[in-house]
Amino acid sequence: MCVDGRLLLDAGAPLLTHLHRLGIDPGGIETIFLTHFHADHTLGLAPFVLHRLFRDKRPFTIVGPTGVEERMEAFFRFAWHDDFWLEFRARLPLTYVEAGERGELNGIRYETVALKHGAGGCTGYRLWIDGRLLAYSGDTEPTPELEQLVEGAEIAIIEATGPGDQFSHMPWDAALALRDRHPETRYFFNHIYEGTLENATEDLTVVEV
Ligand SMILES: [Zn+2]
Ligand SMILES: [Zn+2]
Repeated sequence: MCVDGRLLLDAGAPLLTHLHRLGIDPGGIETIFLTHFHADHTLGLAPFVLHRLFRDKRPFTIVGPTGVEERMEAFFRFAWHDDFWLEFRARLPLTYVEAGERGELNGIRYETVALKHGAGGCTGYRLWIDGRLLAYSGDTEPTPELEQLVEGAEIAIIEATGPGDQFSHMPWDAALALRDRHPETRYFFNHIYEGTLENATEDLTVVEV
């Protein structure tokens, strides 16, 4: 997801293609918040970093869970081979930040909420963007920490993978129940792997809020 043309929430595989198709300048992205390192949340960064190296040299930051630099550097070395990546890395204005419990980056204040998703877990974010609070789950099992994530948020982007039991992800009934417990929040459900439900987002959708 891209917010205000300057912020990414995770970075799945068609990232650069989708930004171009939506007319969003990939060079305008200042901060990338990663919730965890699974492929469907990170693979889009392999071509993205080349755009930022060869087409637009403005600095940008990748924020993520503990070990973000080590994990992403290993990924980029795999993607581009060690020799190319060493060259690229030396010229790329990329900074890594471990998210910790809270922080502020490029004018965006944030808090993190630890969610449940496999051995590495998932870092949910509460982001204050121009004074408005956006909550973003990334991938998670239904867990009590989601209440804290969405508390007081104007907007919540929550994963809702599918109907019935979903391995280490949110089933629809849990996502809808979370919505109904916090009706003051506007919901967008994403990460939907089959079918659709109320408040579902679709690819390449632009929403004004
Ligand atoms: Zn995942
Ligand atoms: Zn995922």
